[in-house]
Amino acid sequence: MAKVVVIGGGPGGMMVAVTASKNKNQVILLEKNEKLGKKLFITGKGRCNVTSYKDISEFFQYIPTNSSFLYSALYSFTNIDTMNFLEENGVKLKVERGDRVFPVSDKSSDIIRAFEDTLIKNNVKLKFNCDVRKFITEDNEIKGVKLSSGEIIYGDKFVLCTGGCSYPQTGSDGYGYELARLVGHSIVKPKGALVPIEVQESWVKELQGLSLKNVEVKIYSENSKKVLYKDFGEMLFTHFGLSGPIILTGSNVVNRNDNVKISINLKPALTQEQLDKRIRNDFKKYCNKDFKNSLDDLLPKKLIDVIVKLSGIDPIKKVNLITREERKELVHLLQNLTFNIKGTRPIAEAIVTSGGVDVKEVDPSTMGSKKVSNLYFAGEVLDLDAETGGFNIQIALSTGYLAGMDF
Ligand code: FAD
Repeated sequence: MAKVVVIGGGPGGMMVAVTASKNKNQVILLEKNEKLGKKLFITGKGRCNVTSYKDISEFFQYIPTNSSFLYSALYSFTNIDTMNFLEENGVKLKVERGDRVFPVSDKSSDIIRAFEDTLIKNNVKLKFNCDVRKFITEDNEIKGVKLSSGEIIYGDKFVLCTGGCSYPQTGSDGYGYELARLVGHSIVKPKGALVPIEVQESWVKELQGLSLKNVEVKIYSENSKKVLYKDFGEMLFTHFGLSGPIILTGSNVVNRNDNVKISINLKPALTQEQLDKRIRNDFKKYCNKDFKNSLDDLLPKKLIDVIVKLSGIDPIKKVNLITREERKELVHLLQNLTFNIKGTRPIAEAIVTSGGVDVKEVDPSTMGSKKVSNLYFAGEVLDLDAETGGFNIQIALSTGYLAGMDF
């Protein structure tokens, strides 16, 4: 029986502790916060999109960084294993649009509670307010960890599950990278992944809070006009620019390419001709109204003022006086609402961190360090990140399971 010290009480660390304790090890979990899963609590807007219902073989296409490293992990503990684990521990689940899996209760706290109950049942010692600052090593082996309080906790195996460095107020502030670096691991420079996009157009502020479903977004090179990313779904306007699932996924392209622009098709289900016809019908219906009062059937209220301004058509022009040319321009605008990009928001606002402990120095079949004999990793502290849709939590759980199985 080994004494396993797990550092970090997010989904990765909790899964290590659940698995290692089932295998009859003595497990202690050290968490900096006063409770488990602070980041998990805010996932999926508090509903926790805990995994995806897609076939596990499809997961790899949603993991842009080091997906092949995850082969053993994802097949050893699959999305179905996650769902079974949660259902067995009292969390009823549902599958929503895009194969996203959520608790039926829509409460992330139910997921955290299921883990906590299992940890307590399995006699895992949970120690809160423990900020790990240092590994104590001897002959390339870790003997213990030193906490900020000065206390030293000794053990046989150590698992670093400290997460990334986005949303640092949740506890994942990137210090885990320093802990790994101090014992000889290389760190791939952390960058924000799944991060909102800042735009130059100040009028975007007027749209703050507006969420649009069923729009198409394109990110393209300003020079070559080549489309680098295209997706359909939900997005959100904020005071600085754009956010929401299809924007967050596209942010990787913005991070990796200079001189790109973003364009939104507000009516992707219609061809140019169909949209023109639709507008002509609306204009017929409202033929005696001013232009600014003729778009109520076509657009959400918040968008109307902005579109009227951008169209260049006099807002009080009578609809029956609008020219064919002006209407064509309007159609183009609605299908190509274009923004100049300032950049992505800071890493602290990213949903996940890309970068972290270099996976070349980690055994993909055990999550064991190739540098230090009794050190393991799980979750976002590793250089792994995925798109939205439940994949990131599944990565934390699958890597956590593999690490826990090695003891
Ligand atoms: P974390 O959950 O970050 O946990 C790490 C833990 O380690 C923290 O509790 C931290 O306090 C602790 N810790 C850090 N340093 C120390 C230290 N020195 N000593 C002791 N403890 C320490 N993913 C999805 O799949 N679905 C979603 O719906 C989703 N929504 C998200 C929404 C938001 C707003 C954010 C920010 C992220 C979201 N994610 C989502 C991503 C997901 O939350 C993370 O990928 C996942 O939590 C990573 O798990 P982890 O265990 O590796 O790290």
